[in-house]
Amino acid sequence: MIFRKAEFMISAVKPQQYPEGIRPELAVSGRSNVGKSSLINKLVNRKALAKVGKTPGKTQMINFFNINDEWYLVDLPGYGYAKVPQETRMQWGKMMQTYFRLRENLKGVIQLVDIRHQPTDEDRLMMEMLKVNNIPVLVVATKADKIARGQRPKYLKIIAESFKMSDWKTIIPFSSEDATGLQELNQAMDDIIFP
Ligand code: GDP
Repeated sequence: MIFRKAEFMISAVKPQQYPEGIRPELAVSGRSNVGKSSLINKLVNRKALAKVGKTPGKTQMINFFNINDEWYLVDLPGYGYAKVPQETRMQWGKMMQTYFRLRENLKGVIQLVDIRHQPTDEDRLMMEMLKVNNIPVLVVATKADKIARGQRPKYLKIIAESFKMSDWKTIIPFSSEDATGLQELNQAMDDIIFP
């Protein structure tokens, strides 16, 4: 897939603020600092479409981007920031549930985890929400450049086990630094959006 056009549309909290669901949509999810903004910018080949290194946990909004006037890319709010109060956490959970339940044009979610770390309770909660809502998931292990190629399977197996996935090889190792996995991810996204 070629990104000819990528433009910010709207930040939404409530369903009334979502853009009309007339095009297929793919969302990206992960903890704060997992490398979500860097991955989005790398994918669409823009320096700052999504803001890198923003204050973690601050922006609790669903950001919609128009891609090629053909589909929507959605940047879901990062979670798991330690200092976030319980009430904000609850709001985040409700906002995600509502989005997953109502968004009929949502074709799939790219779930990001840092290749070096075991998924957290919130990562597993997110995977559970996707499962109960029957939303296809593509797991991507970010910051792959931090782990030598030969060592990666060991880390991917830990992630797969934590998510109860049957095949760790379906996890795409990715790096925004050296473009590891970029083509593979691009192809996998294409397959989800235009089956
Ligand atoms: P977000 O909070 O999930 O949007 O994460 P960011 O994209 O802002 O990245 C968080 C931090 O991780 C920044 O300091 C990035 O430079 C760094 N980072 C992001 N992606 C990679 C990567 O692929 N490799 C390495 N080594 N660092 C990365």
